[in-house]
Amino acid sequence: MNHFELSGGELACEDVPLSAIAEAVGTPVYVYSSATLVRHFTVLRDALMAAGLQDSLIAFAVKANPNVAVLRTLAEAGAGADVVSEGEIRRALAAGVPASRIVFSGVGKTRGEIEFALTAGVAEINLESEPELRLVNEVAHALGKRAAVAIRVNPDVEAGGHAKISTGKAENKFGVSLAEAERLYANAANLPGVRPVGVACHIGSQITDLAPLEAAFGKMRALVERLRAEGLSVERLDLGGGLGAPYFNTPTPPEPSAYAAMIARVMTGLGGLQFAFEPGRMIAANAGVLVARVQHVHARPEGRRFLVLDAAMNDLLRPAMYDAYHDIRPVKPRAGEPIAYDVVGPICETGDTFTRDRLLPPLQAGDLVAFMTAGAYGAAMSSEYNSRLLVPEVLVKGGRYAVVRPRPSYDDMLAREQAAPWQA
Ligand SMILES: *Cc1c(COP(=O)(O)O)cnc(C)c1O
Repeated sequence: MNHFELSGGELACEDVPLSAIAEAVGTPVYVYSSATLVRHFTVLRDALMAAGLQDSLIAFAVKANPNVAVLRTLAEAGAGADVVSEGEIRRALAAGVPASRIVFSGVGKTRGEIEFALTAGVAEINLESEPELRLVNEVAHALGKRAAVAIRVNPDVEAGGHAKISTGKAENKFGVSLAEAERLYANAANLPGVRPVGVACHIGSQITDLAPLEAAFGKMRALVERLRAEGLSVERLDLGGGLGAPYFNTPTPPEPSAYAAMIARVMTGLGGLQFAFEPGRMIAANAGVLVARVQHVHARPEGRRFLVLDAAMNDLLRPAMYDAYHDIRPVKPRAGEPIAYDVVGPICETGDTFTRDRLLPPLQAGDLVAFMTAGAYGAAMSSEYNSRLLVPEVLVKGGRYAVVRPRPSYDDMLAREQAAPWQA
């Protein structure tokens, strides 16, 4: 469920018409609903509680939507943060997420990032390989610390909506095998700079079926039992993120209640564990839209009809990168029979096509459209490609809205670069 509904014949975010934001801030612009963000977080938290998984940390995957105001909204609701870089740790801290609720994941953490994370006091570092275990041990030892670490396991399960976002197969770059995890965990227990506290997995994104998750979680449970049988202490089990969002053309993702009940069932009888979750998409996707304006409608005599927008692939990369589908809704729908449009941006490459042959209500130059379900991996992946200004972001709460990332000026953009000294 989300808070983007028609009200008085036009699309609003909570109590604010999208057209009012488009007028004031210009287009393209991302608009987020505080109520939807909080609702998705609390639905998951309540589902975990209801299933008896009270002792759970829900660490929002910052990469899905790193805007500091979005993170603060979630932090105030009680969320932690799953981060993959020093920049994301800094964002989480700036948004008021306590370090004790920050989990540091990622395959290629640098020495500097590990130092920063340990000095900030993050709750846990998820290790993806043996070299990384050695590096964290060395850095922590030099700082006089003992880092709480979890071993990220690749349970060799196929999952996820697209090859580029599947992470849990043996051939993917993430984590170590189950057997390797056992060996590394035992090794880690003997190192002075680390303290192994648990194991972690994250098998993919946009997962719409519980079966692969259940298969992976069953393997994780067996691993915890084997480690404990060897006399090793295991306190935490991090089950990653990956639950899908409803993009309209995909199967409906499982309800959080079904997800939580499945986990409770798989983990029955396994005591003394704190669970961690790293949801990104399921929290943020439906909480945001990208609003764009129609530049013109270009009807070719031979038939194709192009809807040329002022938003482009640099503002919303998912269709070009992952062949992703976004529902597109006119902000003020006109009456009339639906028409098939190729919806495109102004960038000079064919990849800058959001969709082809999409049936939409009739549209005219100057109309506003909203790309739905764009709150995750939308603004997060935006760029200045084609020297288009970085897309702004707006946060709505009830009848109020605020620009939480302003559109830079062209002077701002140019000021970041300079001539080389010999070019004087
Ligand atoms: C990307 C990522 C997530 C979030 O994935 P979603 O599909 O957005 O829920 C969680 N954990 C890790 C380690 C990730 O890399």
